[in-house]
Amino acid sequence: MTAELMTGTDLAAEIVAQSAARAKALQEKAGVQPCLATVLVGDDPASATYVRMKQNRSKKAGIASRSVVLPAETTTGELVAEIHKLSSDPAVHGILLQHPVPAQIDERAAFEAIDPAKDVDGVTMRSFAAMAFGDPGFRSATPGGIMRLLEAYDVPITGAHAVVIGRSPILGKPVGMLLLASNATVTYTHSRTLGLPEIVRTADIVVAAVGKPNFVRGDWLKPGAVVVDAGYNEGNIGDVHFEDAAQVARLITPVPGGVGPMTIALLLEQAVDAAEAQAG
Ligand code: NAP
Repeated sequence: MTAELMTGTDLAAEIVAQSAARAKALQEKAGVQPCLATVLVGDDPASATYVRMKQNRSKKAGIASRSVVLPAETTTGELVAEIHKLSSDPAVHGILLQHPVPAQIDERAAFEAIDPAKDVDGVTMRSFAAMAFGDPGFRSATPGGIMRLLEAYDVPITGAHAVVIGRSPILGKPVGMLLLASNATVTYTHSRTLGLPEIVRTADIVVAAVGKPNFVRGDWLKPGAVVVDAGYNEGNIGDVHFEDAAQVARLITPVPGGVGPMTIALLLEQAVDAAEAQAG
C-alpha cells in the first residue's frame, strides 16, 4: 500500500468533544439541553442500527434524544404529521429522518416537513439551496463531513478536478455543490454515465457514493488521486476496492473509520448549532 489513510475517527472525536463542551455550556448558561429527535420508519435492521448509533453518540455528547419509531406501513400523511409535531415542539432542536423510508412514502414530502431551523441532517430543499448558493445553513451530514475531512488533510481543492460518483439528494449532489463552492471543477457521474472509468481517471479527487461494494477499481484511478469512499455496504465494505486503490492513490479513506464517523460528528455539531440558535 502506498496511500496514506485519511481516517475520520480522531477528527470526529474532536468535533464531538467540542460539541459536548458547547452543549454543556448551553445547559449551564441558558438551562437548555440540545435535543435531537430521530424518526425511524419500518424495521430495516441496518437503519435501526444507524439510529441507535446516533442516539448513543448523542447521549455521550450531552445531547438528549427523542425517539419516534413508526410501523413499516406508515403513510406519507402520517409521517408528515409526526414530523410536523416535532417541528413545532420547542423542546426539540434537531430532527433526523432516517433514510431510506419504505417505498410507499414520498420521502421528499417527509423531508420537507422538517422545520429548516431543525434540519440538522441537511436534507431539506432550503439546506440544499444554502449549500448550492454558499450561504450559511445546515450541511448534509455526510457531504459536510467529507469536506471537513478534506480540509483536515490539507487536500488542495481549488482548481482540482473532482469526480463524484452518485447523485443522490443527500450525498452525491450536495457533496458536488460543496466542492464547487470550494472552487473545484466538478464532474457528476451516475448510473447512465458512459465511459465512467475514463472519467474517473482524470480526477484529482474521487468521491464514491454509489452503494455498490468494491465498485471503483484501482486501475480507474489517476496515480496520486485523493479517494473518498462514502459507501457503506453489508460486511463493512466500501464502494472502492480498497486494496487495489491504495496502491495508486495518495490519500484514501478506510471503511469503516473514514466518512462514517464524520457523518455522525457533523450531525451532532449541527444539533448543537440548532439548539444554540433556538435558545437565542
Ligand atoms: P443512492 O440514493 O442509492 O444513490 C446511489 C447513486 O449511485 C445514484 O445516483 C446512482 O445513479 C449511482 N449509481 C448506481 N449505479 C451506478 C453505476 N453503475 N455507475 C455509476 N453510478 C451509479 O445511495 P446514497 O444514499 O447516495 O448512498 C451511497 C452510498 O453511501 C451507500 O453505500 C450508502 O450506504 C452510503 N452512505 C454512507 C453514509 C455514511 O455515513 N458513511 C451516509 C449515507 C450513505 P442514478 O442516480 O442514475 O440512479
